[in-house]
Amino acid sequence: MAQTLAPLQQRPDPRGHYAGFGGRYVPETLMQTLIELEREYSAVAADRDFQAELATLLGEYAGRPTPLTRVRRFADSLPGNHRIYLKREDLLHTGAHKLNNSLGQGLLAKRLGKKRIIAETGAGQHGVATATACALLGLECIVYMGAEDMERQKLNVFRMRLLGARVVKVTSGTETLKDATNEAMRDWMANCDDTHYIIGSCVGPHPFPMMVRDFQSVIGIEARGQILEAEGRLPDHLVACVGGGSNSLGLFHPFYDDEAVAFWGVEAEGEGIATGLHAAAVNGGSVGVFHGSMSYVLQDQDGQITPAHSISAGLDYPGIGPEHSFYADTGRAKYVPVSDAEALVALQEISRLEGLIPALETAHAISQVAKMAGELPPEQIILVCFSGRGDKDVFSLQEHISFDE
Ligand SMILES: *Cc1c(COP(=O)(O)O)cnc(C)c1O
Repeated sequence: MAQTLAPLQQRPDPRGHYAGFGGRYVPETLMQTLIELEREYSAVAADRDFQAELATLLGEYAGRPTPLTRVRRFADSLPGNHRIYLKREDLLHTGAHKLNNSLGQGLLAKRLGKKRIIAETGAGQHGVATATACALLGLECIVYMGAEDMERQKLNVFRMRLLGARVVKVTSGTETLKDATNEAMRDWMANCDDTHYIIGSCVGPHPFPMMVRDFQSVIGIEARGQILEAEGRLPDHLVACVGGGSNSLGLFHPFYDDEAVAFWGVEAEGEGIATGLHAAAVNGGSVGVFHGSMSYVLQDQDGQITPAHSISAGLDYPGIGPEHSFYADTGRAKYVPVSDAEALVALQEISRLEGLIPALETAHAISQVAKMAGELPPEQIILVCFSGRGDKDVFSLQEHISFDE
């Protein structure tokens, strides 16, 4: 049987802390639900039947393992003569890594006898992945989405409805992800007996950051085996974009103890940190509480969460997961900013040179590779998480890119 879940680790501690980050900053009524979920998750995750069923779904339905692709023409366009590999999560069903988590949590919910699933979504990618998993597993699916986001992401709203999900329009606050998250939490508090809440990244109160990390670790477990097969040694660098931090942690986590492997988390710098229009929680934020846990977040002096900005909807989140905050403070990973403009250049380069149109999120990671190629010692092995395909972005790209007739 293929291994898809990372072995249980020391982190977080039993109360869900990553050296001070994380935890459960939630109303009393949710505490018991979270404690129960953690207990149930630990039992289910260790169960071989569950692991086997998940591995089968990931293989036969979602298309795992995804390939590792060496990109020679892109590497040749850069200084340093590096060997660059992409872990192809764009080839996963629905076009990005998010389905790994939605399938894992959907199956978990089924095991726990919970037939009703709720989720929150900003751009709609997590909503589509969750609606897909629910259709497959025969679960009811309700997705909370801000009214403003529904307007901006009509196609994904339509997709979710085709897949049988009910999309609930959230009209409170700024009518975006932050408010949709609050509504989903409220629903969960009222209905936790028959409802499971599928959070879409390594964020939220414990055990969510750990659970999502474990379900996404299939990325790093596969990549580790594949690079050893291809090169006979581990990579020197892992690079991934960071929204909440699930594709990156999924890649990094299985390499945590390999100290010679450097981790690069790429944050969305938007229009520049100084402009305030960015989503760089480590580089431009500070420690605070958001979405039920302690982490680096974007906030004002009163601790009010401030809106994030990025050209890529999937990185447009005003925080970063607690395990990333821990990596940042301990120096295990470096967090580097890449701007909207830089991501757009990288997207066009890799499309032209390799025939791979990345998601705008993914383009941030590609840009970082291009930026650092000349500064590294030569002939390094660089492994990048190619988190998603760009089809979803082509309409908005037309506003930024034009070609001569
Ligand atoms: C949602 C998304 C991201 C950002 O989310 P993480 O949880 O940080 O991985 C990155 N890439 C793609 C393609 C996405 O859809």
